[in-house]
Order: sequence, then C-alpha cells, then structure tokens
Amino acid sequence: MSTQGNARISQLLLLIIAAGICAFWYFGRTRPILVRHETHRNRRSSICTTCRGAGTCNCEACGGFGSVEAAKVCSKCKGTGKHRWRFNDSPDAPCQRCRGAGTIPTRVMCATCRGTGKTACKKCGGTGRVASTSRSSSTTVVIGFSAWERALRLFALPTDPNPCPQRNASGGYAIVTKYIELHSKKRRIDVQEWGTFKTNGPAWTMIASLQLRTSDGKVASRMMEFVVQNRKLTEGRLLE
Ligand SMILES: [Zn+2]
Ligand SMILES: [Zn+2]
Ligand SMILES: [Zn+2]
Repeated sequence: MSTQGNARISQLLLLIIAAGICAFWYFGRTRPILVRHETHRNRRSSICTTCRGAGTCNCEACGGFGSVEAAKVCSKCKGTGKHRWRFNDSPDAPCQRCRGAGTIPTRVMCATCRGTGKTACKKCGGTGRVASTSRSSSTTVVIGFSAWERALRLFALPTDPNPCPQRNASGGYAIVTKYIELHSKKRRIDVQEWGTFKTNGPAWTMIASLQLRTSDGKVASRMMEFVVQNRKLTEGRLLE
C-alpha cells in the first residue's frame, strides 16, 4: 500500500474517533437527578436534669443538712453511764445527763460536703450541662454526573461544579420536578408555567408558577422560586 493510502486511512480513523467522541458528548450529556437522603448527628449540650443546671446536688451522706448524727462521750459520767456517787443517792442510779447511755447524741459537720450540704452533681460532673446528640434527616435533590462527565472524571479531567440545571424537551426542569414530587406528598402541586434558570450570584434561580391543591380541595396559584447551587437544589420558597 502506498504512503498516500496509509495517510488517508489514518485521517479516516481520526474522523471516526472524533465523530464518536462528539456523539458520546451529545448523547451522554444528560445529567441524572439523584435524591440524596442524609442523616445528621447534632451535638449539643442541654441543662442537666439531675441538678437542674445548678451543678450541685444535695449531699448523699447528710441529706443536704450539712451535718450528720454522731455520739459524743458524756462529759459528766466519762462514758460510764453511772451516776457519780454521792451521799443519799441510790448506788445504781444512772447518769442524769446521758440517762445511763454513756454517750450523748449530737450533730457534727458532714465530712463529705464540709458542712455545705451540697456535692458536685455526678451526672454532669458539676458543670450543670450534659452533652446530647440528636439525629435529623434531610432529603435533597442533586444533579448527578452525566456519562460524559463520568468519562472526564475517569481521566481526572475537571467537570463543572455548578452547572445550570438541564431543561427537558417539554420545557421543564427534571431537578425541580423531582423536588416537587418529594414535597407534594400531602397535597398535589402542578407546575403551571416554567421559568428559566438564570445566574444569581453564586446560584441559579428560577421562578415557576405552581398550582397547589389545598386541604379543602381548592386550587391556588403560587409563584415559587427555586435555588440550585453547586449541583444541589438548596431552596424552594413561595413568593407572595
Ligand atoms: Zn448535674
Ligand atoms: Zn453520762
Ligand atoms: Zn454532706
């Protein structure tokens, strides 16, 4: 084969490859709309229910009195319980002060709380607050990567991080349709008239006219603005 023929074949091959890439770009440019369910763990602190935020509780050792019962050796009989013998007393008479017990009940300062009646709350460690985690979930609608973009990513080539939402043949936006579908479980919402997504600062915004079916069966018209930023429908808010 001549060198001219070889060149023609390679030209033809290049043309076929280029056409293939163009076709792949054209047919593979539709970005899928994905629904993402996310659960968030929120850490926050709340007032300790045990001490009601005070950080201290009544001392368990003294019940909050600050003093505990103790027995003191009777000073009159020196603990014997017997009456000091004197003339014309009966020999077995008990001590008049301790009534024969040898000790006198008294209250002494509680050693656990040093007389304050309060100790640091064990549940919150004296801080008055306890950490708690709560879970919240959210459902978002996002623009996925098209086949073309997935190929680009395969070769570590950049893709648009904030593309304009794609319109379908009937003039609607798939991302908004999906969003409405997720948010109209209780009452039906139909798009009456589609707007066009335009850049608005870092986001894309579009105002559509919607028909809402109220709980009493009436039909109301509302304008709603949809905000898409970084491939995510971040907001759909009713305009008055
Ligand atoms: Zn506490
Ligand atoms: Zn005594
Ligand atoms: Zn105490």
